[in-house]
Amino acid sequence: MENEAKNNPYYSRTDTTKLDISNEEWEKILAPDLYAIAREAATERPFTGKYNEFDELGEYYCAVCGNHLFRSTSKFSSSCGWPSFFEADKEGVYYKKDTAYGMERVEVLCKRCDSHLGHVFDDGPKPTGLRYCMNSISLEFVPDSEK
Ligand code: FE
Repeated sequence: MENEAKNNPYYSRTDTTKLDISNEEWEKILAPDLYAIAREAATERPFTGKYNEFDELGEYYCAVCGNHLFRSTSKFSSSCGWPSFFEADKEGVYYKKDTAYGMERVEVLCKRCDSHLGHVFDDGPKPTGLRYCMNSISLEFVPDSEK
């Protein structure tokens, strides 16, 4: 399923203005599976996401707002069942401590729209040692060939 940005007036890959949109409004705009993950921090089932086993060259954007998040060259093959990156766009994401489910994790959120993207762990490969464990549904991939 491709991103539902068609009817999303806030979606832009060039406008980086911070958004402050209520969940009530997002619920009207986003597909239910994207809403659940992005706005309610749900997690897609492992090994089901469209970008889990995927290694094309291109850029990854926030599926909610179009903010740039990752470059494909920072994606690596991990066995965890979700698309994994060792580095994020510093302008694209921010972090929050997450103690839900009795775990201490670091949540990764979109800097522009505050949507939940996934978590970051410190068991990733060099050079950063980080593993950004993302939900495919929260991401939109644009291949270099479309630039
Ligand atoms: Fe976003």
